[in-house]
Amino acid sequence: MIYLDNAASAPVNPKALEAAMPFLTANFANPSSLHGAGQAAALAVIEAREKCAAALGAAPEEITFTSGGTESDNLAIFSALNEEKRRIVTTQIEHPAVLNAFHEAEKRGFETVYLAPDADGSISAEKVAETIDEQTALVSVMAANNEIGTIQPISEIAEICKKRGVLFHVDAVQAVGSIPIDMRKINADYLSVSAHKIGGIKGGGLLFARKSAPLSPMIFGGGQERGIRSGTENVAAIAALGAALEEITCDIENRTAKIAELRDLLIKQLAEIPISRLNGSKTARLCGNVSFSFSGIDGEALVQSLDLYGVCASSASACSAGKQTVSHVLKAIGVPKEYAGGSLRLTLSENNTREEILKAADIVKEQVSQLRTLSGFSQNVNQS
Ligand code: PLP
Repeated sequence: MIYLDNAASAPVNPKALEAAMPFLTANFANPSSLHGAGQAAALAVIEAREKCAAALGAAPEEITFTSGGTESDNLAIFSALNEEKRRIVTTQIEHPAVLNAFHEAEKRGFETVYLAPDADGSISAEKVAETIDEQTALVSVMAANNEIGTIQPISEIAEICKKRGVLFHVDAVQAVGSIPIDMRKINADYLSVSAHKIGGIKGGGLLFARKSAPLSPMIFGGGQERGIRSGTENVAAIAALGAALEEITCDIENRTAKIAELRDLLIKQLAEIPISRLNGSKTARLCGNVSFSFSGIDGEALVQSLDLYGVCASSASACSAGKQTVSHVLKAIGVPKEYAGGSLRLTLSENNTREEILKAADIVKEQVSQLRTLSGFSQNVNQS
């Protein structure tokens, strides 16, 4: 198997698995229990919080453990809503975890604004500055896009929001481990992280919320996580997240440089396919993201064909796959319809090798050609 779907879920890091194992086996105790086993579990949660805080340049009390990126996004957005300022701003290319939280806020009577990206998928800080007004409570912009990999200028946007007294939430689910994230340098109020994208295990995640930022619970119960997120802690996932975040943020430069080299090789190979286009920015791009569209094929059919040859890929994003609709991200950046339907997202990790990339590229070339032949599509380059 050549696994090129790391943006959907990345492999569990061996150190994360090692950190989780005791809490799935010998120590199954509840961290709220006062006996030794319970207190050992509680200590694991404390230590994981310290590791996560250190990795993000935050204080431990600024970390709230959640069930993943979706919950973190929702927790930030609904915590920021208030009755005095009833306008909230995001972008057209956010993950559904943000977009659907905004749609819910809209149903509750809040005014919502969805900023359009440029053709690269970039949202400029100037655009955010023009949009913010006296009534704006929150701006939510992802650090990097999950489909096309474009990296946003979040530090600049954070400065604008701070100056204008507007809360700023960053969905960093795809960016953590790919770009340096230091909350001492990025003036954002909230930042969402998901465990299964960075070598942790599913069902884990965290929200960074600056001490000054409002935080209100969505789940009520036993008062765990300082009353912000009740429910018995997922100790194994939390311990794994601490280890995974520590691992993925150390030596980030060397690791991402190696992945970027493979990404560029893959882009070069796939660009040889006639009547194709690379989606997203050529420069401000996640080290592991390759997003292409091929005219004359169906993206999902391509993903299925690749699977038969052992290549794991996604069409646009894993979430929109299977829905037979054109991705909202590709639509927002203006990818023509005849291309958007034939989209392929390949996302790499440090586990991939040069041999795998070359082999996968050959398989993609072959399968695109076969699908085009089957559908009677002419590969004459003049068509583009
Ligand atoms: N935000 C982004 C940018 C994502 O890519 C994802 C998942 O693909 C999420 C949020 C949701 O994260 P989770 O799967 O942990 O709920």
